[in-house]
Parts: sequence; structure tokens; C-alpha cells
Amino acid sequence: MYRAMQRWTVVSDRQVLTSTLKKYNLTRDQYKALVAKGCVICGGPPPLSHSASNGLGRYKFDADPETGKFRGLLCSGCSIGLDSFKDSQDLLARAQ
Ligand SMILES: [Zn+2]
Repeated sequence: MYRAMQRWTVVSDRQVLTSTLKKYNLTRDQYKALVAKGCVICGGPPPLSHSASNGLGRYKFDADPETGKFRGLLCSGCSIGLDSFKDSQDLLARAQ
């Protein structure tokens, strides 16, 4: 039962990644290159996730709330930090 649930989670995770890449017009290779660079702000590693099926871990996709344009991958720490910045362009520019 537990195994079956794990399996379902992994498949679902892949599907989420695929549709997310599509949404931001990224190829899998582009995604891998972004992952290799690390978090766009601190260069940190991805949050560890046992459900990550590709061994790459799972970054949060950051996109401009107004244009929807993809900005970069964020580790969980920076993702939480950005939320508290409330998308202040000034702080974001400094962070980058
Ligand atoms: Zn980070």
C-alpha cells in the first residue's frame, strides 16, 4: 500500500514538472542547466525531496506575478524570503 502511494507520488511529480516546464517555455535541458547553477539568488542546492523522481530535487519556479515571465529557480529558503519581500523589485534586484 505504501509502495503504491509512493509510486503514484513519483508519477505525479514528473507530470507536475513537465507541465511546469511547458508553462514557462523551458526544455528539460534548460531546466537541468538551471538546476546545475543552483538557486538563482544564493546558488544553494534544491530542497531535498523524497518524491523527486529525477534526483534533481525540487526548486520552486519563480515567475514575475505581472508578466508571468520565468525568473529563475529558488531554493526553499529564498522562496520563503521572497514571499516576505512581497516581490519588492528593489530587493530582488539586489538579491540578483
Ligand atoms: Zn536560495
